[in-house]
Amino acid sequence: MSKYWSDFVGTLDPYTPGEQPANTNLTKLNTNENPYPPSPAVMEAMRCAVNDDLRLYPPPNADLLKQTIADYFQLTPAQVFVGNGSDEVLAHVFNGLFRQAQPILFPDISYSFYPVYCGLYAIEFNKIPLAEDFTLNLDDYRRANGGIIFPNPNAPTGRLLALDAIESLLQENSDSVVVVDEAYIDFADANASAVSLIDQYDNLLVVQTMSKSRALAGLRIGYALGSAHLVEGLERIKNSFNSYPLGHVQLAAAVASFNDRDYFEATRKQVISSRELLVDQLETLGFEVLPSAANFVFARHGAYLGADLTRSLREQNIIIRHFNKPRIDEFLRITVGTPEQNQQLIAALTELVG
Ligand SMILES: *Cc1c(COP(=O)(O)O)cnc(C)c1O
Repeated sequence: MSKYWSDFVGTLDPYTPGEQPANTNLTKLNTNENPYPPSPAVMEAMRCAVNDDLRLYPPPNADLLKQTIADYFQLTPAQVFVGNGSDEVLAHVFNGLFRQAQPILFPDISYSFYPVYCGLYAIEFNKIPLAEDFTLNLDDYRRANGGIIFPNPNAPTGRLLALDAIESLLQENSDSVVVVDEAYIDFADANASAVSLIDQYDNLLVVQTMSKSRALAGLRIGYALGSAHLVEGLERIKNSFNSYPLGHVQLAAAVASFNDRDYFEATRKQVISSRELLVDQLETLGFEVLPSAANFVFARHGAYLGADLTRSLREQNIIIRHFNKPRIDEFLRITVGTPEQNQQLIAALTELVG
């Protein structure tokens, strides 16, 4: 508290990100980063972008990147919004689309940044409990609302909601915006993405990030895809906030990443197959693992507390994420690493619970 703060600052309850330790000897499986480096083509594009043009402001509308993303998803550039990480895109979504008369809805267990944005923009919300098995029950969303948002696959559970269920939500809520936060969708089956529904439903906004499947968390690039009028609303917010959220180097990297499909496919598939092996090994050790369509798994062991296992792993220089929250405090959220990192984790857990 400081006497210089506005009263409002004191009311905020900011998000706490997962730890980014200074010690690089740790096996870091706590924040769902990609275990592989960015594509070599991305590295080269960034090197080329480091030139005298850095004295110039970047293109304010990121036209080349929007065109590249539009081509990739078979949309038009007017259906693409880009921002400084999907967290910034989400902030503009809450500010520009969710400040409505009715409360917005999201699952009780989902991305913990959502209630933080509600605090920042004074948005009322209702947390809708997931079912016992952590699936989303459509019936619970049949009520007046000012918008709906959920991650798909969900975080931190990893569970995927099928496209026909998303379509029902869109049809039943045609007067509000339904936002699908697809931070992890590239680790799910092909065709799981709601992007294919955009041309049919003008109340759908899909948010994606280059932080996870494209190994660019450190560059901060996210985007939203939806009908042109939703994107235009977001542009109005963005141009009232920061005209240049993405710099020359970010833009060059992002374009190169979308253009290198082979590297993207190879690393994405490697993470998926490592996840399947990790799930088998955890189950062999007696863990219950929720079905995951993401680059992490959510698992609990009936005989050991989540907090204790997390602490014991940390003593062996392996960091994972534990949420000290109702319903999920028994669970460990483990990011899928390289095969070597995953083996290290399994070896440590075998000592602890085997
Ligand atoms: C990681 C994550 C984000 C944020 O991604 P950035 O683009 O790095 O800001 C958004 N939503 C969910 C559900 C995430 O897990």
